[in-house]
Amino acid sequence: MDLGYSLLLREYVTATEVDYGDCKLFQITCPICHEAIFKAGKYGQDRQYFSHYAASKADVNHCELRVRSLKQDDLVISNLAGHGQTMDQFFGHFRKFIVDWLFVEKSAHIRRQINWMVARPSFMRIAQVFRSFLIQGNQLITYKLSRDELKQVFNEDRSPYWIEQQARFAEDFQQHLLAPNSQSALCFVVAIMIFANITILPPESWRLMTQGHDRQLKQHLQKFYTGDNLTNFQLVLIATLDMLLMTVPYFDLLNGEPGDPANRKLFFQQMVDVVAQVRDKIKLPKY
Ligand SMILES: [Zn+2]
Repeated sequence: MDLGYSLLLREYVTATEVDYGDCKLFQITCPICHEAIFKAGKYGQDRQYFSHYAASKADVNHCELRVRSLKQDDLVISNLAGHGQTMDQFFGHFRKFIVDWLFVEKSAHIRRQINWMVARPSFMRIAQVFRSFLIQGNQLITYKLSRDELKQVFNEDRSPYWIEQQARFAEDFQQHLLAPNSQSALCFVVAIMIFANITILPPESWRLMTQGHDRQLKQHLQKFYTGDNLTNFQLVLIATLDMLLMTVPYFDLLNGEPGDPANRKLFFQQMVDVVAQVRDKIKLPKY
């Protein structure tokens, strides 16, 4: 049959979209009996379809007939609703896992500091300023995620379907973070990005963000983060956000598996390298 249903994404998928390995990662099942199915036929070639396993308990003819009778419009509506639910669920997993995933052995300590930072009014102000900078300065276009970039970051062992979904989740996540009512999610992500760029901050900023009184932090931000300092700081954050959005292991997190520590280090290193290039370009002062 042509159609499968991804339990992970809560969406219908067609056999021609996916590759063999996608069935397992995206938990693709028969839309009727919900048993696991596999992809037959080579990606990009003529005959491609989903098939039940030989040991299946399903009445395969019955499933095939019912799948054929599903209406295209209903599938589109169901996919839209499913994607909304999946994105909501993703944020829960993201909050729970991302700090461990990025900061590995230091994660417990960093999590405590992030909780402290994001609870403070002055820090929320940093996140808001950053959000306006992204939206008004049209920075989203400059750093727009492209599928080609993704192909470079993730090598050939990722399927075209995986790349497509990764780009889609990255774009939707970005939209979510910039929505007016996503204040707490944005604060959390900005705090993570700051932790990934500790070395660009003057030690004073760092101390005040993680320990100081709110009033002291506010005064410091008003004094230091103006003009070029503010612009440069924001450019670094944008480059970090871009890299973070591209490399978040959306599907591993949705599966509740933050992934292999070796891969985590690799992704984080790529993020740090890209950000370092931006920092060199804009010649930030070193502290
Ligand atoms: Zn079935």
